[in-house]
Amino acid sequence: MPPRGFIPRFVLPAIGLTLSMAYSSAAMGQDAQTPTPYDVVNPPSCANNKGEAVRFIERNGGSSAMAAGMAIRDSNGKPVVYRSNYAATPPEFQRFIDRHECAHHQTGDVDRPHPPRNSPEHLMNESISDCVAILRLRDEDGYNRAAFDRVAAAMRHDMTKIGFPEISIGSRIGNIDNCYSKYGSPQDFIDGILKHRGLLQP
Ligand SMILES: [Zn+2]
Repeated sequence: MPPRGFIPRFVLPAIGLTLSMAYSSAAMGQDAQTPTPYDVVNPPSCANNKGEAVRFIERNGGSSAMAAGMAIRDSNGKPVVYRSNYAATPPEFQRFIDRHECAHHQTGDVDRPHPPRNSPEHLMNESISDCVAILRLRDEDGYNRAAFDRVAAAMRHDMTKIGFPEISIGSRIGNIDNCYSKYGSPQDFIDGILKHRGLLQP
């Protein structure tokens, strides 16, 4: 019976440790290979927890050929997601990254103080955004098990490419599998997070 009281139990300490290794490797990951040219998908609808529309902006370049996203407010204070090198990863995983970054806006992460990188709070935020992303793909985009497996395969491929240990990859995939298999709607999940944070709009 996972729902409602899930937040304190959401990430076990052991998983936090393995994710810690994963995300620190991600921070250092560099790869100069030429990306496989996949078509870039259209971004999803996205609004933050205050109801502001979030724009998705292409910002390719840098030395990394890894697809990546960043959720942030731009220099004018508008909420945005910057998309980097999306053509380097399959469409299913591009959609996952979009929704993961959107989730940082939906859950209020972007406007909260940034926890130290790889702290338990940071890893919790990443796990929550992963969970929201896979729930949206399941409920809004009709991702069946086969599509889930393609997301997991791309996640595994990209993480392996930049040197994550198997235990970190397995933990992250295990988290989204648990969410996909057991959790309710993405909005219920997001509302639970916002309520826990005192951010739920009346
Ligand atoms: Zn994130």
